[in-house]
Amino acid sequence: MTTDYYSLLGVPRDASDEEIKKAYRKLAMKYHPDVASEEGAAEKFKEIGEAYEVLSDPQKKSVYDRGGDPWGGGGPGFSGFGGTFDFSTIMDAMFGGGMGSRGPRSRVARGQDRLERMSLPLVDASFGVIREITIESLVLCGSCTGSGAADSSKPVSCRICQGRGEVTQVQRSFIGDIRTSSPCPQCRGFGSIIENPCPECYGDGRVKMKRNLSVKVPAGVTTGNRIRLESQGDVGSGGGPAGDLYVELVVSEHEMFTRAGDNLETTLKIPMTAAALGAELHLATIDAEREGCEPGDAIAMVTITAGTQTGSKLVVKGRGVPKLRGRGRGDMIIHVVVSTPTNLDDSQRELLGQLAGLRGEDGPIKPRADKGFFDKLREAFS
Ligand SMILES: [Zn+2]
Ligand SMILES: [Zn+2]
Repeated sequence: MTTDYYSLLGVPRDASDEEIKKAYRKLAMKYHPDVASEEGAAEKFKEIGEAYEVLSDPQKKSVYDRGGDPWGGGGPGFSGFGGTFDFSTIMDAMFGGGMGSRGPRSRVARGQDRLERMSLPLVDASFGVIREITIESLVLCGSCTGSGAADSSKPVSCRICQGRGEVTQVQRSFIGDIRTSSPCPQCRGFGSIIENPCPECYGDGRVKMKRNLSVKVPAGVTTGNRIRLESQGDVGSGGGPAGDLYVELVVSEHEMFTRAGDNLETTLKIPMTAAALGAELHLATIDAEREGCEPGDAIAMVTITAGTQTGSKLVVKGRGVPKLRGRGRGDMIIHVVVSTPTNLDDSQRELLGQLAGLRGEDGPIKPRADKGFFDKLREAFS
């Protein structure tokens, strides 16, 4: 134990509680960081705080007086102040506002960010688009250009707090006067008052307004993507800088395509005869919806091979959605469903009957599954 708390506070070892308290308050006032400018004042202030914490606490004092460690190994500031108050609370109470005054707050603040939703068709999400949107946001008041004061008058210093933005109340207590500070109710902490507020914005410096903005949507976006438009959110109060505008995209459902990553999936129903005999067909791509699309890009040629089954998948390379990051496009994926004819007329039924006879399929149907099916099933469950 090298620190002599008594000499730090400048009191004899047999000083009374009252003398210790008095000495501490005198030193604390002198070395408080808000008033002291000399070097080492902050350190000194901390030391006398520790000294007082020990000597004002009967338990710690008794340990210290007998040469023990008053902090019990926990170090200064570890325990409370007399078991009731926190040290900093007492300091706040004694000096008002604690370790450093806040001063009046600024009328100028950054504005809020805004979030807008924008829905767009799949074709625009795929290839990008420039769209105009209308938003309502807070903009700089034109009448007072943000100052909030009418006729270019200036805010005047608040008479209640003398421009400090806070008011101090003093209460008598066991350690002397306790001063507590709170924002000035007259000027709401600004320290000044707009005596003649702007009639357009009522002193806020900004007004609500609808305006049009053009939004550039890059190719390859999807639902949930956000586009940030810097400084297009609400302007700040008192002419402060504007927040940002975020445009969140919602891609509408497409009647033909479902998006899966960068791929576009679709289901194609083909007649039983085409599935059996094979066919060539032309399918519209997403490109077909694009303005100024080359005729060659609008259509994909798809070959149905003879004997195509329901569940087969055809892939048209590079006809999906362009990648948002990086080059290239996803694929167009076609899921084939073979459609069984309904409402057969007599001659069709007869023809199909003949076919069934030729194929030996006109008798009773024996349930059978090819071996591969059971093998697959077994694999799936093992
Ligand atoms: Zn105004
Ligand atoms: Zn005030």
